[in-house]
Amino acid sequence: MQLSQSDLPMFFEERHASLATQLTAAAPQLEEADARGDAAVVEVMARHGLFELVCGKVESRSLCLAREMLGYVSPRADSIFAVQGLGTYPLQLAGSPEQKSHLSAFARGAGIAAFALTEPEAGSDVAAIQTRAAPTSDGYRLDGDKLFISNLGLADHAVVVASTEPELGARGLTAFWLPLSTAGVTVQPLAATAPHPIGALQLRGAIVPASARIGAVGQGMKLAMQTLDTFRVSVGAAAVGMARRALDEALAFVTRRIQFGKLLAEQPLIQATLADMQVDLDTARLLVLRAAHKRDTGSDRVTTEVSIAKLGATEAAFRVIDRAVQLLGGRGVMQGNVVEHLYRAIRPLRIYEGTSEIQRTIIGKALVTPRMPK
Ligand SMILES: Cc1cc2nc3c(=O)[nH]c(=O)nc-3n(C[C@H](O)[C@H](O)[C@H](O)COP(=O)(O)OP(=O)(O)OC[C@H]3O[C@@H](n4cnc5c(N)ncnc54)[C@H](O)[C@@H]3O)c2cc1C
Repeated sequence: MQLSQSDLPMFFEERHASLATQLTAAAPQLEEADARGDAAVVEVMARHGLFELVCGKVESRSLCLAREMLGYVSPRADSIFAVQGLGTYPLQLAGSPEQKSHLSAFARGAGIAAFALTEPEAGSDVAAIQTRAAPTSDGYRLDGDKLFISNLGLADHAVVVASTEPELGARGLTAFWLPLSTAGVTVQPLAATAPHPIGALQLRGAIVPASARIGAVGQGMKLAMQTLDTFRVSVGAAAVGMARRALDEALAFVTRRIQFGKLLAEQPLIQATLADMQVDLDTARLLVLRAAHKRDTGSDRVTTEVSIAKLGATEAAFRVIDRAVQLLGGRGVMQGNVVEHLYRAIRPLRIYEGTSEIQRTIIGKALVTPRMPK
């Protein structure tokens, strides 16, 4: 398994080389643990210190390198890892000293977090959140439903964004740190296209103390957007890892498989397909690394580059994986084949953390806004 750090060194610094070594050491164990399930991959990620990359200072290129490796060996582990970051980052941004003291346990993998924003009636339109956090004498009472929440089933805590002042809309949203053992909290498991712990969260009169609030009243939307903005580029990196795996699997197949008396790899049409896959893969990597490098080196506005990376990389990776399935013929669609698994695993990446359409909206708006007639 090759990581971008080794063949695109211009985007990286010396310290990323030791991270790449650490990631490469963890990779075979994670691939083996993937077949044993969620708890097994958590144990391996914890043993290799991977959660420290998302529960301490989050550096985009390190995050991207980690997700590139995880996407290659275990999309299941990738999802758990990324959501551990999403579910703890609001504490890093605005948590109280008591809340921040929880972070070290999550960095060790001793706790698993979830990030609960989406609702049945609030998907792309986050401002439509209806979950209510009604003030009580010494805290809040939470009522509502959250949908498609990753890590549910594994997680012990979730960041929940709820409305404290419904009349203010998006400005009336506030974030809470909710122990999932709280009375009135129910988790219902859901099954996604590929192994991925996910569920729905029901909140029925769940009482939390005032100290469960993260940051100020009304800061929930800002915290949620800052969190998504930090992690979104790494969705593209996970897509790169999955696409690279698909290309490797396709190359291994076409250089073995004989039809019409010669190797598939000798057919010009097969070589042209492989060329298209490589171009898509490199485009994805370059978009991701441009955005991650810009984030880390202090460019003030990277939202558009991040959206371009998320859109470009996830769509390109989908094309690469689809072509890998095609190159493997019937074997490519048989359950248990790596490319068949990747075909199912890549699909949600074009939907979560802002769909491809929402990324196009952000990019398109950034293009036209400065050019609009005054
Ligand atoms: C596997 C998976 C894991 C997830 N994990 C989490 C999680 O951990 N936490 C969490 O809070 N959420 C999570 N989500 C939810 C995810 O963020 C939402 O599914 C996503 O934001 C889209 O919302 P929706 O599904 O309600 O679709 P909708 O918003 O209803 O959109 C449906 C379709 O309409 C399009 N659309 C919507 N608005 C527009 C518009 N203005 N212009 C053009 N097209 C538009 C969308 O792009 C989409 O194609 C997860 C989702 C999946 C699939």
